[in-house]
Amino acid sequence: MIRFILLDIEGTTTDIQFVHKVLFPYSAERLADYVAKNIANIEVQSALASVRDTVQTEQGRAISDEEAVETLLQWIQDDRKHTALKQLQGLIWKDGFEQGHYHGHVYPEVPKALEAWKQQGIGLGIYSSGSVQAQKLLFGHSVAGDLTPYFSHYFDTNVGGKKESDSYREIARQLALAPGEILFLSDVEAELDAASEAGLQVTQLLRDGQVAGSKYPAITSFEAIQLPLSASH
Ligand SMILES: [Mg+2]
Repeated sequence: MIRFILLDIEGTTTDIQFVHKVLFPYSAERLADYVAKNIANIEVQSALASVRDTVQTEQGRAISDEEAVETLLQWIQDDRKHTALKQLQGLIWKDGFEQGHYHGHVYPEVPKALEAWKQQGIGLGIYSSGSVQAQKLLFGHSVAGDLTPYFSHYFDTNVGGKKESDSYREIARQLALAPGEILFLSDVEAELDAASEAGLQVTQLLRDGQVAGSKYPAITSFEAIQLPLSASH
């Protein structure tokens, strides 16, 4: 019996384009200005220190705050998943969401599906490489309003990478559920491989014409998930 549904964001609840066409450009445009204006903020300071540490370790050279900002801009282009970048983007995106510069995209059937699953007594959570703070902003300021009341748990790369099976074991442990009681939904086969190896049930989302892999059940919309959920598939 499925007792919990764990959701990926990009390509699952949300159009990948939202992050790449809206959030990433917004953070790139505002990064230098944001850092300059908030240089006394302890979170900004610790992020810059972390960038300097990484460059010191990888390239063996000390860099200035200006160079740290340039490094961060390059990491945005490279889509590097660095904690310091995630922290700063989270702060910048928070401003944008709170000022109503954009709303978090979710596919049209998502709110109705969340409601139906909640009615069934199924727990709901998010697992994304975006920070927990960014996850809460996206769902808290979504095109369908505040969806955060649906979610009891949010996981990011603090539990480990999404392509590592230990991450899913840790999530099951934190949820105090058997892995087989959790259904993980994602568009990325390598993530489904890792979750499946940890014993979770998995289903692949095929949004916007994505072609199915052959290994796992695949659906184009949450509406295709049959209720009541059983452990049969
Ligand atoms: Mg995804």
